[in-house]
Amino acid sequence: MKSQPAPPLPGPLQLEQALQLLAQSGRTPPAGVPGSAPWVQGLIDALVELSSRDALTGLANRRAFEMALAREADRVARSGEPALLLVLDIDHFKRVNDGHGHAAGDEVIRAVALALLDSVRPMDLVARVGGEEFAIILPNCGSAFGQTVAERVRRRIESTPVQVSHSLQVPVTASVGGAFAPQWVRCTPGLWLERADQQLYRAKAQGRNLVQLEPAAISVVSSEEKRLLFDTFPMTDHE
Ligand code: GH3
Ligand code: MG
Ligand code: MG
Repeated sequence: MKSQPAPPLPGPLQLEQALQLLAQSGRTPPAGVPGSAPWVQGLIDALVELSSRDALTGLANRRAFEMALAREADRVARSGEPALLLVLDIDHFKRVNDGHGHAAGDEVIRAVALALLDSVRPMDLVARVGGEEFAIILPNCGSAFGQTVAERVRRRIESTPVQVSHSLQVPVTASVGGAFAPQWVRCTPGLWLERADQQLYRAKAQGRNLVQLEPAAISVVSSEEKRLLFDTFPMTDHE
């Protein structure tokens, strides 16, 4: 058998750029002797952390959220434990930007992020998934608790007007949509998110500052999911 040529060796690590990136984001350089194995590991850990965080709020970013959602969908399918996905969108956010400026808008986004972190459990993942859009993955949250949790989050935002300057407070509300992952059934993270998004659209359409959850966990696989899950394995000739 003809041997394959060896792949080219990777180029040298761009340590200077990596350290600059950390410094620009306000992070401290890794501890230890520069160049030592623990120092390099510390640098890698810091870069991984940096690439999974949203710069404005410090929450998980869209990329980290999508990875966590895929892991959670998989966990629910294997363990049968329930899980809830909430998606939130700040109401009439454009008015804040237009009326008080972009910096005030940023302040509102930061304040909502803190309110969200403050109203869920440490095990829940709070992410900023778009401009003024957030998502929360709540593992081990059954349908009996979903409405209570989502309402608590909505009320927490409503009850915290944001101080955008020393003389100005702006009222903030958000609409919340949610969907449970179907237990014992493998669901695609994309479709789980789509279900939660549909509920968010309903909350917006029904007047905003509202929670809308999908009524009950779906325990059967939709035909669309079947196609997505099983069409990747083409039928062989003898089947
Ligand atoms: P709705 O109640 O229907 O959600 O209305 P809305 O005004 O919140 O909706 P829309 O999605 O049209 O507006 C979102 C705005 O958010 C538009 C965009 O300029 C602004 N935006 C997106 N990212 C940022 C950001 O990082 N900072 C600030 N200040 N504004 C942002
Ligand atoms: Mg939006
Ligand atoms: Mg909005």
